[in-house]
Amino acid sequence: MRLNARVDAIALSTTLALDARAKALAAAGRDVINMSVGEPDANAPEAVQVAAERAVRGGKVRYTPAEGTQSLRKAIAAHISATRGVEFTPAEIAVCHSAKHALSGALMALIETGDEVVMLLPAWVSYVEIVKYAGGVPVEVAPRPDLGPDLAAIERKITKKTRGLLINSPCNPSGYVLSESEVRALSALAEKHDLWIVTDEIYRRLVYEGAPNYSPVSISPAVRARTVIVDGASKAFAMTGYRIGYVAAPKDLAAAVGRLNSQLTGCPNAISQAAFEAALTTEPPEVGAMCAEFGKRRDFLIAGLKQLGLETPIPRGAFYAFPNVRPYLDARGSSGFCEDLLEQQNLAVVPGSAFGSDDYVRLSYAIAIEEIGRALDRLGAFLRTHAERPAPSGARKA
Ligand code: PMP
Ligand code: GLU
Repeated sequence: MRLNARVDAIALSTTLALDARAKALAAAGRDVINMSVGEPDANAPEAVQVAAERAVRGGKVRYTPAEGTQSLRKAIAAHISATRGVEFTPAEIAVCHSAKHALSGALMALIETGDEVVMLLPAWVSYVEIVKYAGGVPVEVAPRPDLGPDLAAIERKITKKTRGLLINSPCNPSGYVLSESEVRALSALAEKHDLWIVTDEIYRRLVYEGAPNYSPVSISPAVRARTVIVDGASKAFAMTGYRIGYVAAPKDLAAAVGRLNSQLTGCPNAISQAAFEAALTTEPPEVGAMCAEFGKRRDFLIAGLKQLGLETPIPRGAFYAFPNVRPYLDARGSSGFCEDLLEQQNLAVVPGSAFGSDDYVRLSYAIAIEEIGRALDRLGAFLRTHAERPAPSGARKA
């Protein structure tokens, strides 16, 4: 069957593909440690479970408005107003099936064929594919050595065709959290070159040290008017399988995403909407506890990677470590490294190539700390059996 060219060009999500492979190997009896996919290991908070059950038993299982229930949009608007320090109304919210779906809706609503969209490397696996599917041209910009944004390099990549800037803080995969001054500088660039900003803030609550995440919408009404926030329930509320997220944006964009929903998907899942509303309105205590636990795991993993001699930028947020493994790579790059690591040590991690940064690999620390310990042992054993290759920036022995 002949496929549409744009669909045919879509790559399978590396994170999801690796997760499926790791799970299949585990089901076949292999003792696999899975640090590939990024999802919390905890169940969703009690209040979420109760609300979901109540929705099911109470028959709240019908179509809802395409842009989400009014009560959930109200709860989201109130949540954003409180956390970003700027008033949002329900009309500026469109609820979607997930943050991924919200991002797709926003990008489809914004991009005309041939529009260039600037994104910072390393960039989450789906950005390039969604932009291309929407008809846009992804323009990837290399970061500074600490994986922060290189503003001069970004400005050099802006052309007459550039329409948008896609940012993600805390960053998947590096855990880098943009500082307020970096967000201001990026927003100033967007104003100077008349670009929209899509800011993916799905890991906003998961920041372990330093200042909290800062959103462009907090800068000024003018920046807010060109900005779309993408967020959702998956990470902070451990609700990945519920599939619920949203855009918060100027009214016309939110309404456009709602119209797309009405024709393409109908409406977001009614049960998950009720569950997400409970999460936002009760602020469950489990969230803080989960975040504290992630913080401990982060410290443990970063210390372990350091002991193995791997240069690892300190991830202030999200739940990933992104060590540089360049001294250990052969011609196959990071995907060969990950292939061998899984084959020889039963440890699943994601190649940096999936994020546009082939010198690195990503390890999710959203798994039990004991598992992280075992994973470090395996990684150490793997590195010892792999001779370091000469690296330009001074390799160290494991
Ligand atoms: N953005 C980033 C940066 C992510 O890591 C993810 C992964 N879940 C998403 C968006 C999408 O989240 P979801 O679709 O589960 O809401
Ligand atoms: N965002 C998570 C990750 O990067 C979940 C998988 C996905 O949607 O890519 O691993």
